[in-house]
Amino acid sequence: MILRLSQLFVRTLRDDPADAEVPSHRLLVRAGYIRRAAPGIYTWLPLGLRVYRKVEQIVRDEMDGIGAQELQFPALLPKEPYEATNRWTEYGDGIFRLKDRKGADYLLGPTHEEMFTLAVKDLYSSYKDLPVWLYQIQTKYRDEARPRAGLMRGREFVMKDSYSFDVDDAGLERSYEAHRAAYVRIFDRLGFDYAIVKATSGAMGGSRSEEFLARLDVGEDTYVRSPGGYAANVEAVTTLAPEPLPYDDVPAAHAEDTPATPTIATLVDHLDGAFPRDDRPWEAGDTLKNVLLVLTHPDGSREPLAVGVPGDREVDQKRLEGQLEPTTVEPMTDEEMKAFPALVKGYIGPAHGGRTVLGEESETGIRYLVDPRVVTGTRWVTGANVEGQHVIDLVAGRDFTPDGTIEAAEVRAGDPAPDGSGPLELARGIEMGHVFQLGRKYAEALGLQVLDENGKLVTVTMGSYGIGVSRAVPVIAEYNHDDAGLVWPREISPADVHVVAAGKGEELFAAAERVATELSAAGLDVLYDDRAGKVSPGVKFKDAELLGVPTIVVVGKGLADGVVEVKDRRSGEREDVAVDDVVARVTQVVRG
Ligand code: ATP
Ligand code: MG
Repeated sequence: MILRLSQLFVRTLRDDPADAEVPSHRLLVRAGYIRRAAPGIYTWLPLGLRVYRKVEQIVRDEMDGIGAQELQFPALLPKEPYEATNRWTEYGDGIFRLKDRKGADYLLGPTHEEMFTLAVKDLYSSYKDLPVWLYQIQTKYRDEARPRAGLMRGREFVMKDSYSFDVDDAGLERSYEAHRAAYVRIFDRLGFDYAIVKATSGAMGGSRSEEFLARLDVGEDTYVRSPGGYAANVEAVTTLAPEPLPYDDVPAAHAEDTPATPTIATLVDHLDGAFPRDDRPWEAGDTLKNVLLVLTHPDGSREPLAVGVPGDREVDQKRLEGQLEPTTVEPMTDEEMKAFPALVKGYIGPAHGGRTVLGEESETGIRYLVDPRVVTGTRWVTGANVEGQHVIDLVAGRDFTPDGTIEAAEVRAGDPAPDGSGPLELARGIEMGHVFQLGRKYAEALGLQVLDENGKLVTVTMGSYGIGVSRAVPVIAEYNHDDAGLVWPREISPADVHVVAAGKGEELFAAAERVATELSAAGLDVLYDDRAGKVSPGVKFKDAELLGVPTIVVVGKGLADGVVEVKDRRSGEREDVAVDDVVARVTQVVRG
């Protein structure tokens, strides 16, 4: 097959698009692979579509390989199934909703658990029908709050989603393992540097849950690894709670004047000056920082929340939201704080002087959750709820009792892994796949039951497995580019070889045409730069580098000596090859 650049629907751009923050986005737009249609919504141009389809085919191969069956649900879906599982509400602003001419509610599917569950319910009724694994490669819609980096976080994107249906837990375990193994093969073939990490199961509930994160500095996820093999998304990292401490010898809590100490740093300085410790200087970690937040629940209702963390750590909003999903979290504004006169900004504490200020049973009634390190017997410096005053020796379990604990504090490099496998190391990545055991949540909500061996009705247990197929394209581009442009891996490239007619004259174009035709006849996909007229060789070389086909054949000056140049896009290595040998040589390079 020959794609002729003189006719191909592509225009490369010299300049970076203004809205592109990451290299893959810049290059895919500049090289004419994709085009923005609206925020977070992109068109695949012919070259981009070829790349996308190759990725899709790798995913399909491996899914078919484990015996999953492909089908396709519509993207436009009725509200009712999503109401039955409460996701119509839980998704909040996250989905696109629409009405038909009769006023009935629809949505554009963000993910399809409901539809798969109902389909299996309609068709199957016996344990003999199970297990069954179904999948689709289909367009999803999510009204993401922050679409970003082109196709990496789109509002319209393609997901491969599969679902397993089993009669018992052992079956679910097998289905899960088979999908996990297929994912390993897919991500190996796509050439990703990835980690399989423990994940929270988020809006969908369920038990075992792992993410495949492609290591990438521009990714939005942070994950941890320990030398002993612990790996988790920071959202899922659990904190090792210390043993409770005895506090019989701790003096009674005492409030002290700490003027002009609204921040942890100013407070620690002041403590060292005014109340020096015998054993060591005061540290930020001796203070208890109380952060006020407002939760927005999926039904739109709002609720204040106070979170207490050791003062040397920030509250990690993503981690916090990971615990509370689908509820979202924002800092409480000064305006909102006015509703609670007991709160003194910069000097907020749970309790002191006969007053309890944070907690469901307190003056404010604000739910108060603390970091798991705040165990009974730990002593803290924290706000006294009086302007300019802090309380020292406030003991958890003696002077205040939180409503519970929450994983909200940031995870830092060097923190111990919760399973004792060593200090954690942090890295950034992007979620490429997610496998998890849904269990019976959807089957229960939608009444999916089958008869078991004993003729008894049992609820089916499900797994859900997603891959970001369209996201994979920019991620591959992030891994495979240089300053001059894209550098596609062979299995993904839109063509096997890029032939450049570099020069003028009928003879040269005839020779280039012959080379392109023969390469194509040998079974290769050829991108042929046959542009004549004003397009100089320099422009053609630049475009070849930008487009990123891994092998470039230049039919140019060497022709007088009977040679063409074969160039490796990645290494830049060139070799002169006799015109008559070029098909053999290129075929060898391409087929490896
Ligand atoms: P993320 O944490 O990146 O928002 P998610 O947890 O919401 O992803 P899932 O619901 O698990 O995603 O969807 C399965 C896969 O679909 C993800 O692993 C990811 O690769 C892909 N995906 C999810 N949202 C998007 C998006 N907005 N644009 C492109 N791909 C996406
Ligand atoms: Mg996920």
